[in-house]
Amino acid sequence: MAEHRTTLDPDDWAALRAQGHRMLDDMFDYLEHLRERPVWQQAPAEVRASLRAPLPRAGSDIADLHRAFMEDMLPYAVGNAHPCFFGWVHGGGTPVGMLAEMLAAGLNANVGGRDQIPVEVERQVARWMAELFRFPDTASGVFVTGTSMANMIAVLVARRRALGAEVRDAGLAAMGQGLVAYTSAAAHDCIAQAMDLTGIGRAALRLIPVDADFRMDTQALEQAIAADVQSGLRPFFVAATAGTVDTAAIDPLGRVAEIAHANGLWFHVDGAFGAMAMLSPALAPLLAGIEHADSIAFDFHKWAQVPYDAGFVLVRDGELHRQTFAATPRYLKREPRGMAGGSPWPCDFGPDLSRSFRALKAWFTLRAYGTDRMGEAIAGTCALARYLEGEVGKRPAFELLAPVCLNIVCFRHLAPEGDLDDFNAALVADLQEAGIAAPSLTTLRGKVAIRVAIVNHRSERRDIDAMLEGLERLAERRLRSTHEKTGV
Ligand SMILES: *Cc1c(COP(=O)(O)O)cnc(C)c1O
Repeated sequence: MAEHRTTLDPDDWAALRAQGHRMLDDMFDYLEHLRERPVWQQAPAEVRASLRAPLPRAGSDIADLHRAFMEDMLPYAVGNAHPCFFGWVHGGGTPVGMLAEMLAAGLNANVGGRDQIPVEVERQVARWMAELFRFPDTASGVFVTGTSMANMIAVLVARRRALGAEVRDAGLAAMGQGLVAYTSAAAHDCIAQAMDLTGIGRAALRLIPVDADFRMDTQALEQAIAADVQSGLRPFFVAATAGTVDTAAIDPLGRVAEIAHANGLWFHVDGAFGAMAMLSPALAPLLAGIEHADSIAFDFHKWAQVPYDAGFVLVRDGELHRQTFAATPRYLKREPRGMAGGSPWPCDFGPDLSRSFRALKAWFTLRAYGTDRMGEAIAGTCALARYLEGEVGKRPAFELLAPVCLNIVCFRHLAPEGDLDDFNAALVADLQEAGIAAPSLTTLRGKVAIRVAIVNHRSERRDIDAMLEGLERLAERRLRSTHEKTGV
């Protein structure tokens, strides 16, 4: 019988090493020359078709796969590394983060637990975050995929506090009647999703109206809590937002904290991107009150530029956080010595058991750049937003649709005829398809807005100018073609 060939390591390490260096060079070239590329281009049908193939039984040469990546994948990503990408809220990544990802992948650590330094690196990042947000030493923190998961973990810890340890066995059906939670109408939908996924239900989330600046109306919050208590319900959780997804508005965190704590509610902050404004001494005062949070959810992969994915949840009461998730089945028993030591483990603070070494790319990014420089990059995107606000104000064809608080500018083109919502949606699609710049869309008080979220450390004034020029040119072209069609 022939011997099985089991190893997946190369026969020729020198050849693989040379191939690896070519791959690394290609990615450095990509990052160095990003601005020369279109922000985005749709993948042609042939490229999509080229991916379709039966399950590969035989192997391929890595050089061929590398070529397939360079030709058929790299040009057709969404483009968030590009300085003219302004859509949604995406981080740009850094070359340092890329290198750290390579090291982490090579080590292939499973950071669910056990006695190993990667767990210690994650704990150190958690200590840094506790320091940044002025949380006590007893706070806990873990990496997760993103803020959606981090928000859900916060809801679960708050549920554990409201209902006690029994809820983990008995479940909500037995004891969770009447739980209600609060967030603003401008909050990210993942807060409602967290209610759904935790079994509390979307209907138990009150969407508190916002003021003229899109901030939670705290008087309405107080009234809603009082009304629910009056009806015999059990308010348990309030999520304020530091940097809303539409306009980057910051809820009055200090006031929400007071109301939450006066009523015995858990005070959570969704700071997906906005929480990282703490890294800038000039912006940090805007987040006053965040230090009173019971938990904060945020992403390293947005404003902190760490490559995807790197969400994080920080919980003031680390012991309660542990009690929400910890379980020790026989195969995960902790021991006083050997590799099964070093408890508690990251898997005791969330639903994931096997976990990647996300902490390394965050540790590298924080150490390599230092928080001063990261804060400067963040403040720089806010300065660009103010620049864009000014440029929009100078152009009568444009109208600002929301105050500019941090790094997001919402405006629209005032086309002289036709439906403004349709016109602006078409204009943004024109701009994206032209590969010039990539803002996204949202709707504010019933009006479709061009939404420019400046998150990328690579963006400069010339990129904002290119976007504005593109919008003006494409709007003119669009208006001209309507005239030609209608013969006006
Ligand atoms: C991006 C964002 C989220 C979701 O975060 P993910 O990392 O995409 O899961 C939640 N809240 C706000 C305010 C956001 O901007």
